[in-house]
Amino acid sequence: MKMILLGPPGCGKGTQAKNLVDTYKIPQISTGDILREALKKGTPLGVEAKGYMDQGLLVPDNLVVKIIEERLQQEDCKRGFILDGFPRTVAQAEALDATLSRLELNLEHTLSIEVDEEELIKRLTGRRICRKCGESYHIAFNPPRQEDICNSCQGELYQRDDDLEGTIRNRLKVYQDQTAPLISFYKNKNILHPIAGLGSIEEITERINAAINP
Ligand code: AMP
Repeated sequence: MKMILLGPPGCGKGTQAKNLVDTYKIPQISTGDILREALKKGTPLGVEAKGYMDQGLLVPDNLVVKIIEERLQQEDCKRGFILDGFPRTVAQAEALDATLSRLELNLEHTLSIEVDEEELIKRLTGRRICRKCGESYHIAFNPPRQEDICNSCQGELYQRDDDLEGTIRNRLKVYQDQTAPLISFYKNKNILHPIAGLGSIEEITERINAAINP
């Protein structure tokens, strides 16, 4: 199963990607996670990406395209993969097409998770992430048992710098301007499935499974 999860920040892409990993036993490839890891380690990629990420802007296409090109060549992607947060511009989508055809892989599904803007702001401002295992919580909708402590690994929970309200508004504008055009890009390829993103995590997982296994 080779697919893309498309949707604005806070729509639940990361959470649904993890469910798909469990179901289909294929890797989740999140450019956001890869960039945050690079930033934490202080690699040249992380240093270059930091300024863009802090402002809620997209990092330049050439950097993320290179990450994806390298990642897709790894053995575990032969059976399938879930792209989470990539592509985010038409130029990235075209570079992905070129890479996939070179590797003789074909994309089967693009799931576009739809959530309105006010709901996204509520979700993102309350989001907290575990520093140790990456598990995601929400202070109101999915609070940890103990304040600021991860249920699974007891790691400390933190708020991503780019989950502050001013930066969130930038990220949503960037999504509308640069990423939303991908909806028609994949619709034209007949692989787009719009998924209503309001409801419980399980309900959305069911909608996704119904779309990819009709
Ligand atoms: P995410 O975790 O997917 O919300 O990504 C966090 C940040 O990483 C974004 O706001 C961008 O600054 C950067 N980023 C992640 N994926 C991409 C991408 N495909 N293209 C450009 N920038 C990206």
